Amino acid sequence: MRALTVEPGKSETLALSDVPEPEPDSDALLVKALAVGLCGTDREIIEGGHGSAPAGERSLVLGHESLGEVLKAPAGSSFKAGDLVVGIVRRPDPAPCAACAAGEWDMCQNGEFTERGIKGAHGFASERFTLRERFAVAVPTQLRETGILLEPTSIVAKAWEQIDRIASHMPYRPRRVLVTGAGPIGLLAALMGVQRHYDVSVLDHSLHENKSKLVRELGAHYCLALDQLAGPPEIVVECTGAAQLVIDVCRASSRNGIVCLTGLSGGQRAVQFSAGSFNNDLVLENDIVFGTVNANMRHYQAALDALQRAPKGYLEAMITRRVTIERFAEAFEKKPGDIKTTLEWT
Ligand code: BGC
Repeated sequence: MRALTVEPGKSETLALSDVPEPEPDSDALLVKALAVGLCGTDREIIEGGHGSAPAGERSLVLGHESLGEVLKAPAGSSFKAGDLVVGIVRRPDPAPCAACAAGEWDMCQNGEFTERGIKGAHGFASERFTLRERFAVAVPTQLRETGILLEPTSIVAKAWEQIDRIASHMPYRPRRVLVTGAGPIGLLAALMGVQRHYDVSVLDHSLHENKSKLVRELGAHYCLALDQLAGPPEIVVECTGAAQLVIDVCRASSRNGIVCLTGLSGGQRAVQFSAGSFNNDLVLENDIVFGTVNANMRHYQAALDALQRAPKGYLEAMITRRVTIERFAEAFEKKPGDIKTTLEWT
């Protein structure tokens, strides 16, 4: 069967390759791939800057944002042929650490986890793949066209869970939320902020009509500079990883501000700032700045709920290009107006 493969650590090795059919163990689902979504992590992997192949292999099957249809389920399974399914990305470390043992592999303590399509485990960009039921999320048929957004939404759901925990300890309820970045993660973070009844603003780096329309449809504000905000944000969900912006939003947040960092910074660009005055800003304002990565089953379920409650047409409008697998190279080209690009199996 065909699979989209790459040799991690080497650029220009992305290829549609012939790979062996997967052999499901007795407790695994056999899944037919419908689509994979592409994100910055995939780009980093194909450029040779990130990722690793399974132990003893040279190539990695790419794809961690999945949507598939069950072909075969083991006896006694809660899945049946024809069900839609999304695969969870991370697998607990084999040790396992206390977090992984509790099913919270997103908080793995020793880094020995694997991630499908990213770190030491083949991904979902193959015609068929197997999935243990414990790592399979059932997707309702009404999300057939948009269920590919479940994995990125799970990342955002974990970020919001962490923010909710911190905010629940405050003696008042924060109101103003700033989301930086109007890519898929930013637009999903804004969606979940609005669903929590916050007053949400989304900061974009330059005007994109389709993004601004989506943000306004949500009932959120679209802006192009921090000084366009109505007041200092009490919660920031930083979704760009742009180094200067990371520093700027920590400073721009309100007293007792909560700043959640979700984006990785590409490149080695140095940013000059005074660490001392930055420290003083955080200390004197009780600011909380934290990072978040990955998601466990609870976050996928919360994400499912958020997607099902999204305004009509919002998710469909986020998927701006659907490219057939044979034209995979085209899918990685950046085009104006792109939000989420998917690769689809025909
Ligand atoms: C994925 C996460 C993963 C992270 C780091 C992201 O693109 O969505 O599941 O943990 O990359 O590898």
